[in-house]
Amino acid sequence: MNILILGGGGREHALAWAVMQNPKCDKLIVAPGNAGIAQIAECAVLDIEDGERVVDFCNVNAITFVIIGPEAPLAAGVADALEAANILCFGPSQAAAKLEASKSFTKEICDAAQAPTAAYARFTEAAPAKDYIRDEGAPIVVKADGLAAGKGVIVAMDEDTALAAIDDMFGGEFGEAGAEVVIEEFMEGEEGSLFVLSDGETLLPIGTAQDHKRVGDGDTGFNTGGMGAYSPAPILSDEIVAKAMDEIVAPTMRVMAGRGMPYKGVLYAGLMIENGQPRLVEYNVRFGDPECQVLMMRLGAQALDLMVACAEGALDGRQVNWADDHAMTVVMAANGYPGAYEKGSVIGGLDDLPEDSSHMVFHAGTKVRDGKITAAGGRVLNVTARGDSLKAARDAAYKMIDGIDWPEGFNRTDIGWRALD
Ligand code: ATP
Repeated sequence: MNILILGGGGREHALAWAVMQNPKCDKLIVAPGNAGIAQIAECAVLDIEDGERVVDFCNVNAITFVIIGPEAPLAAGVADALEAANILCFGPSQAAAKLEASKSFTKEICDAAQAPTAAYARFTEAAPAKDYIRDEGAPIVVKADGLAAGKGVIVAMDEDTALAAIDDMFGGEFGEAGAEVVIEEFMEGEEGSLFVLSDGETLLPIGTAQDHKRVGDGDTGFNTGGMGAYSPAPILSDEIVAKAMDEIVAPTMRVMAGRGMPYKGVLYAGLMIENGQPRLVEYNVRFGDPECQVLMMRLGAQALDLMVACAEGALDGRQVNWADDHAMTVVMAANGYPGAYEKGSVIGGLDDLPEDSSHMVFHAGTKVRDGKITAAGGRVLNVTARGDSLKAARDAAYKMIDGIDWPEGFNRTDIGWRALD
């Protein structure tokens, strides 16, 4: 099988790593890829949000299976273009990708599915939105409807912050994504992420994870794309996963199919758990980054078989072969991230680190310059390890970090603290 992965972050390096372990993969191309991916697969330059170009590329390179990593190509309809060209694709249609691309769409689907989630109201004008906030009071959550790279959500602990968020959103800070605003009830509890494959009919949970969004130890400082993750997430016990599947994921998938947009691909359900009851925070229509890194390390080569079965509509009867293992990934970011940071610093020590089925440094923003790996983004490396316990996985990941020589980078030192405390 000749495979194309779209994307170039740590998530796609982890996908490429898992895919390459499966003997069914004859050739792997990743577009655009990065310096780490280039060590294990061919990288190509391609406009990954242009469906026609992706189809042409597949035809020229005899690609028979495409895995779409990030949300942007999904929201742009690349999966639809591939399906129309009869090329097998892992990733939902543009219509189904609205579960991530529009928060008001998701809320409406949740209503129809009677899936537990925060109470909400939708607004296209500032004045009624502000009245609603004054009536409801704080804490309250203000969200730009569209894709805003994780920045369009303001969890306001006081009314003034919420009112200011309304001015920002209708003032154009998020462009089109903020033309509609969803205001939600603030949910208390602990968050966890559940990953489920759906082939349009059959659902298969493929793991849980918890990430760390804040930049600083103790969950302090600015929000980021994610500073680390681990799997499984103890908060998502078997009972809670079963509840989330029955009450949230399965009914959502039934409503999607009933409306003529069956969901095919991985569904990432962000859940808030309080007193044993899960409620939906958000759906994403792709693997999380860095959650994908820990899921791939745990799934290994079978990830490809599962993704192919998912794309072929053949999940019925499939199971995940679980080792009783734990994985952790710790993100190393450039000093200054998520604010301004320097690019181009040299990262040393990587060649001496172990690389096997339990240890991998997945690259996010890296480039090769003069034969050396250099930093080329905010989040740069995902140092990932697996062990018999979460503590063993953590110790192994931080031991690898000790071997990395990169004074211009930093990492959190407490990934996994909730589960390990
Ligand atoms: P990302 O894709 O980066 O997770 P997003 O822009 O899609 O973010 P959400 O996941 O909806 O936004 O919200 C971001 C974070 O804000 C959540 O992970 C959660 O911590 C918090 N949050 C969102 N909605 C609520 C809510 N109703 N109550 C409490 N916290 C919330």
